Amino acid sequence: MTSRIIYVPFDHLHRGYGALKNADSKTDVIAMVESARMTTGRAWHPMRLFFLISSARHFAEFLRSEGFTVHYEKAPTSIDGLKKIQKLYPESSVLCAEPSSFKQYEALKAFGVSFVPNDFFLTSRSDFAEWAGSQKSFLMENFYRAQRVRLNFLVEGGKPTGGAWNFDKENRLPPPKNYEWPPYLEHSRDAIDEEVAAELKCSPGNTWATTREGALAQLNNFIENHFANFGPYEDAMAGDNWAVHHSLLSPYLNNGLLHPSEVIDAAMKAFTRGSIPIASCEGFVRQIIGWREYVNGMYWFLGADYEQNNQLDATRDLLPLLRDPSKTSMNCVGSIVADINERAWVHHIPRLMVLSNLALITGTNPQQFLDWMREVFIDATQWVMVPNVIGMGLHADGGAMMTKPYAAGGAYISRMSTYCKGCKYDPKLRVGETACPFTTLYWDFLDRHKETFVKNHRMSQQVFGLNRLKDLPELKQRAQEVLDGLSEGTI
Ligand SMILES: Cc1cc2nc3c(=O)[nH]c(=O)nc-3n(C[C@H](O)[C@H](O)[C@H](O)COP(=O)(O)OP(=O)(O)OC[C@H]3O[C@@H](n4cnc5c(N)ncnc54)[C@H](O)[C@@H]3O)c2cc1C
Ligand code: SF4
Repeated sequence: MTSRIIYVPFDHLHRGYGALKNADSKTDVIAMVESARMTTGRAWHPMRLFFLISSARHFAEFLRSEGFTVHYEKAPTSIDGLKKIQKLYPESSVLCAEPSSFKQYEALKAFGVSFVPNDFFLTSRSDFAEWAGSQKSFLMENFYRAQRVRLNFLVEGGKPTGGAWNFDKENRLPPPKNYEWPPYLEHSRDAIDEEVAAELKCSPGNTWATTREGALAQLNNFIENHFANFGPYEDAMAGDNWAVHHSLLSPYLNNGLLHPSEVIDAAMKAFTRGSIPIASCEGFVRQIIGWREYVNGMYWFLGADYEQNNQLDATRDLLPLLRDPSKTSMNCVGSIVADINERAWVHHIPRLMVLSNLALITGTNPQQFLDWMREVFIDATQWVMVPNVIGMGLHADGGAMMTKPYAAGGAYISRMSTYCKGCKYDPKLRVGETACPFTTLYWDFLDRHKETFVKNHRMSQQVFGLNRLKDLPELKQRAQEVLDGLSEGTI
């Protein structure tokens, strides 16, 4: 007799967590829905769709191999699919782990689904809300230190291992020269992958795995070949290596193929064996138990309306270069957009210090930029994109999350990448036809928002820097040309 219908959304693909944790193949049936809303209607990156769908179909097969009856429906919406499955079991209730977006939560609640707590993170939503409720400002660093102590990672007798809570100084090196990078891990394709690729009419490449075995191989590859050097180059943008030493684990962490406890346990085991320098270990632990948990906590804490914030009144339409890299001569942006087109991923610094920075200083509408980011990244999900874009990248929340905007001129990109060498623009120049658009627009942005930022003690120095610019009128004129050119796709 069937007692429960277990609904498994495409980001809960783990047998040991969520509603599947206590599922029994003798009494429970599984519902999975491939909704048209998820696959059509927007300019989704084909690799993103391929990854999500193929991972889900593999997972459905895995559950069948465990003896479960799995109903995998294609339907216009998740609810339509669930309705169809529920008709087969009219006496049974539908159970799901708390979903990962406000919208999905509301839809499932309205349909009468019951929830078990979402344990795909190391911090429950209520524990995070308790921490946030006790803070004057939501500094990630404070949350992270509390996490280190609470979860007992890299802490000895209440003190941080290695004598410091962070090793940022060691971890901000530019890209190395004459460096031998480990080879990329390639994932082979099977019949399910081929079926999905044929339906989507796409070529999925070999970058992303679609099974738990593949995700575990990626984790192992990171631990063995990249972890030791993760820290020093985590902010570097290297022209000769698109992944640097990043783990490439976000897609699997976000769709459930890996749980953060598995990732942190593997990292700590390697550190305990003695092969990983503390700076690299700390830098990575910070991402997993700090940033990832913080961003999820903030998404739920800040509420459903947070994503509509536009406190800098940014109204420019999405720049055409984001959809078509041939619409720019800026080597950094063109290369990064081409990388995204190729594999739906670039690491944190291109996302923050190039793409979001450009959107911020050009005054691009945050919601349009958010939509674009959601469409093109393999790891985009609502809980992680919204705080990263609205709060961290575009400062559209007026500083509710980050104390200062991440605005920067060409000097930062020049220091941390190899892009400027091959560019028609000069990162040192702020006026004239060959001035770097980032450098020009950085000052223009500060000038446009000086009244707001002069009150911010972390920004006031930069705003006062405007007074030293003798060429400000000329710069403002060049900035207008650059803004017009970017909107027309000619810069
Ligand atoms: C504007 C912007 C948008 C972003 N959008 C996403 C997104 O849609 N999905 C996503 O997973 N990450 C997002 N990030 C965070 C980060 O860029 C990616 O998690 C990371 O680049 C993924 O690559 P990786 O797995 O190799 O990460 P690594 O550098 O190896 O880090 C390990 C893990 O730490 C976690 N992590 C690190 N930084 C963050 C962060 N700021 N927020 C949440 N988790 C973090 C990720 O799970 C990541 O897999 C965004 C960052 C910015 C600035
Ligand atoms: S000069 Fe400016 S636009 Fe060109 S690559 Fe460097 S930062 Fe980018």
